[in-house]
Amino acid sequence: MKQNTAGNNQYLKQRNKAQVLDLIRIKGAVSRTRLSELTGLSATAIGLITSELIKNSFIIESGAIESTGGRKRVLLELNPEACFSIGIDFDIENIIIIVIDIKSSTVYENKTPFPKEKKIPEILKEINLKITGILKELQIKKEKLMGAGFSIPGLINSKEKNIIIAPNLNWHNIKLLEFWKDISDLPAFIINEAKASAVCEHWIGSCREKNDFICINIKSGIGAGIFTNGRLLKGMSNFAGEIGHVVVDENGPLCGCGKYGCLETLASTTRIVEKTRRIIRQGADSILNNTPDADNITLDMIIDAAEKNDLTAKNIILDSTRYLAIGISDLVNTLNPEKIVIGKEFVKYSNLVMDQIKKIVSSKALKYPLADLEITASEFGEKTSALGAAIIPLQKIFGRENV
Ligand SMILES: [Zn+2]
Repeated sequence: MKQNTAGNNQYLKQRNKAQVLDLIRIKGAVSRTRLSELTGLSATAIGLITSELIKNSFIIESGAIESTGGRKRVLLELNPEACFSIGIDFDIENIIIIVIDIKSSTVYENKTPFPKEKKIPEILKEINLKITGILKELQIKKEKLMGAGFSIPGLINSKEKNIIIAPNLNWHNIKLLEFWKDISDLPAFIINEAKASAVCEHWIGSCREKNDFICINIKSGIGAGIFTNGRLLKGMSNFAGEIGHVVVDENGPLCGCGKYGCLETLASTTRIVEKTRRIIRQGADSILNNTPDADNITLDMIIDAAEKNDLTAKNIILDSTRYLAIGISDLVNTLNPEKIVIGKEFVKYSNLVMDQIKKIVSSKALKYPLADLEITASEFGEKTSALGAAIIPLQKIFGRENV
């Protein structure tokens, strides 16, 4: 019985400590008195917890504010040197590595081409070596690194955390975390790239105050990270959010999943590029005809042409977003989100299509769930998944977990 009481006390102490630390994170800078008001804990309890957090270098005193009666209240904030975390985002073209501090501020970022010819253990060994180099460069002790989060463009099962399939990387049944354990003792986590983006938007982005929102990532594939009631929606097997495989045209192109007319076969940026190259090869009227080889046409070139009012380029981009808007309308009717954030490569051409997306969603979704809906482009661009993956290992010290 005694042991149980001790265990409960320890649990409560840890929970209170994490709650105080989380409030300091959310508020940025906050006094002990305010922490006591917000938590309902006594001034003595807050004094003990904050003393311990200062002793362990998690927080620092950072100036003071005047309070009623002329007394000064010392403000507390997170110590940016306290600990760090690393996020690694795999996609079809690049590997993005980002290091963040306890405040989730980026202290390092790097993008390298994805080495398609290499096997996964080899890629992980190189990443591990890179991490060692980064720590040295930033003069961060290894024990201050809380862990690494891997963001993957594919399905990850809930129990073993294996990658079931990442079609655009051509990965099937990959035990990435087991490979990692053979290479490094750094704790590692794995998350789907769209879910990682949603974690990022909820932790540090435009959805900080939101409980019900959806992040849609558009690149070679399309996926969604969904928050309902303030929690990341996982579904029975962790596969929730695969909106790229919602059929929007039964007679549409064949998808990597084996079905026809999935959203990502009509609205991913890979398909925008493929369609443009095909149409240019067929002799369409466009300034892109000046490109010596249609196979060298890139998304950036298509966006540039559309911005110069090239009708062919403009219509291809608008056509792809018409399907996207249909997919969004279904999400609005099904989930009633407060906000939809569209990220990754979409950010590059969002200004060209956002009005049209809003117009179509307004005409297709039901009036009532639409009432206060906001649709925006992500402020983080292509970095959102790497940031989200980096946030995962940090969340535990704040008493929060999403994976
Ligand atoms: Zn599909």
